[in-house]
Amino acid sequence: MVYKKRFDGRKFDELRKIEAEVGIIPNADGSARFKIGKTEAIAGVYGPKEMHPKFLQNPKKGTLRCRYDMISFSVNERARPGPSRRSQELGLVIASALEPVCLLNDFPKLIVDVFIEIPQADAGTRCAAICAASMALADAGIPMKDLVAAVAVGKIGDKICIDINKEEEDYDGPGGATDIPIAYSPVENKLTLLQLDGKIKDEDLVKAIKEGIKGAKKIYEIQKAALKKKYKVNEVLNE
Ligand code: UDP
Repeated sequence: MVYKKRFDGRKFDELRKIEAEVGIIPNADGSARFKIGKTEAIAGVYGPKEMHPKFLQNPKKGTLRCRYDMISFSVNERARPGPSRRSQELGLVIASALEPVCLLNDFPKLIVDVFIEIPQADAGTRCAAICAASMALADAGIPMKDLVAAVAVGKIGDKICIDINKEEEDYDGPGGATDIPIAYSPVENKLTLLQLDGKIKDEDLVKAIKEGIKGAKKIYEIQKAALKKKYKVNEVLNE
């Protein structure tokens, strides 16, 4: 029942090493890369632009469309290229985690396309995708209330662990593994994604969400710093 030490030696509330960068795809209107441990997501944003076919246009608000794709070399056992049930579901999940912060009413009928590629996966790819996409949307100048930061919390054996990797996700020792991806907007103080794969007691779920929010707040600062770096905000302020 006791998970004493994390497989990779991290503290239970320690995130993996994070790298975040904005403006990596010159051809896109906005783009970003977010790496957490060995999991990496890159996102390119195109739009707002006219939506085709026209009957899909929403006259009241804009549409946010996300495509999630794992590159075939991203995992040990080659991922089959092209859309799958999982990638289609993740595209929808990612869009619904980002929609609450996007001011879609500002561009009725139009569409914003977000393309996300996963060059490397070691669990938590939907969360890395949300982090990258949220920075890329901001980089594209899409009107937003806030950024969204996301992280997968786990209950591994008897311990709540932040930012679980694949080895932890696959833990089949006593107590098993429960995977809880969450996305959080600090300005709105809202969870925009909460999923749960496994079993957990109510009180542990509350603890997991609290830990997740703490982790998301740390990620949020890194996302903001990456955007400020591209737009040289600190240089301008210190002029
Ligand atoms: N994975 C894999 N092959 C696949 C899909 C997933 O090896 O075709 C691995 C990958 O490391 C991924 C992890 O399983 O990050 C967990 O996938 P899940 O569907 O739970 O989503 P994620 O945790 O990446 O958001």
